[in-house]
Amino acid sequence: MTDDAPAKKEARRSHSRSAPEAANLGKKGPAERSSVPGARVAVSGIKGTKDVLPEEAGSWQRLEAAARATFELYGYRELRAPVIEPTELFEKGTGQTSDIVTKEMYTFVDKGGRSVTLRPEYTPSVARAIIEHRLDLRAEPMRYYYMGPMFRYDKPQKGRYRQFHQVDVEVFGEKDAAADAELIEMAHTLLGRLGILGTETLVNSVGDRTCRPVYLKALRAAARAKQAELCPDCRRKVETNPLRIFDCKVERCREVAATFPSILDFLCQECRAHFQDLLGYLDVLGIAYRVEPRLVRGLDYYTKTTFEVVSGALGAQNALLGGGRYDDMMKDFGGPDLPATGFAMGMERVLSVAALPADQKKFLYLAYLGEEAKRAGLELARFFRQNGVECLVEFKDRGMKAHFGRASKLEAAWVLIVGGDELRKGRFGLKDMATGRQVEGTRGELLAAVRAG
Ligand code: AMP
Repeated sequence: MTDDAPAKKEARRSHSRSAPEAANLGKKGPAERSSVPGARVAVSGIKGTKDVLPEEAGSWQRLEAAARATFELYGYRELRAPVIEPTELFEKGTGQTSDIVTKEMYTFVDKGGRSVTLRPEYTPSVARAIIEHRLDLRAEPMRYYYMGPMFRYDKPQKGRYRQFHQVDVEVFGEKDAAADAELIEMAHTLLGRLGILGTETLVNSVGDRTCRPVYLKALRAAARAKQAELCPDCRRKVETNPLRIFDCKVERCREVAATFPSILDFLCQECRAHFQDLLGYLDVLGIAYRVEPRLVRGLDYYTKTTFEVVSGALGAQNALLGGGRYDDMMKDFGGPDLPATGFAMGMERVLSVAALPADQKKFLYLAYLGEEAKRAGLELARFFRQNGVECLVEFKDRGMKAHFGRASKLEAAWVLIVGGDELRKGRFGLKDMATGRQVEGTRGELLAAVRAG
């Protein structure tokens, strides 16, 4: 049959494919965007971006549904901000010395002469939206979540893309370390629902504006002493923001950074107490963790708590999610003085290790013979769909044998037969493709049979 386009077949068959298998289809080298060898198009997609094909989309939907269901249990509500923001938002929020702002932003001047940026992360957008809409004046808790694309012009590799997707969670107005612990526990609840095992939780405190300057002095002194051994980028960071040396991916820089003083030895009384509280609450919640004093995270705004959940199954880009507290952002943005904490989870990375149950969706294939039956079929299909049954009608003039061949290739659960005879009687045939059993009945009776099956 000429109309059996392989892509379509693939899409229909996805109903019975297990999710990890589907997610694996996305695992290709960074430059290799197509799963079909030798496929050539006149204009191919941008490097570091990916198409989510129909056979993969089910896993994405299930991840999104699990995230929504989990967060809503903890009192979070969705807040959707635009993909595009004023560049200044990230310069101020994400930080002038972060790798994201200095090297990775998709920034351009729009037709109105404004510098705009495709968001590289979500947190500054939420802070902006709260201030702009005065959400802090409302009675409801300020707990927000969001899922969507982020953009960073980084070197694409496995687990690192230029357009990637994050599940983002933010809490405002809670300064208690219990809020950080609850966030980490919530992240674990979601990972558990997704069947992700074998993770490790790293926690740290990066201090605040009282104690961090003292630490930065000591860190800068240590980094200056080893300056010659650092990469050119890190040599610059020694003066601009030595904390960012911990983000460097160059092996030698990591070795050198491992010898630098630990921020935990420099925490002020308040930060030390907050960190001890965090560890205590994590114990209460039964979350195992490892204190990692070099976990500073790539953004400039963190205060006190930072954390990451990593997976041994991921390779070099092993962080499934990361976050922390950012108590100064709101007032730095000229808004109310509200403490805040949150995390972002990489959806591509989570999907590559998730064990989602297979999609059990069943559908009915409508086989019609001739124009009159096609018209009746259109109406019948509408009836089944309105009653919640997925129904596929392909508008090709096929004989009954071809219809059955096609339905079986697509792995349809049932075939509904509409021919001249059936039309005259107002009764139709329904074949259960798994058992081979065929019954006859009115559309109402057949609907009942489908529902029972
Ligand atoms: P960040 O916003 O840098 O704290 O990252 C939070 C999470 O987003 C990370 O733990 C990753 O899972 C994911 N992530 C960050 N950057 C990328 C990227 N370029 N490609 C894919 N996932 C990413």
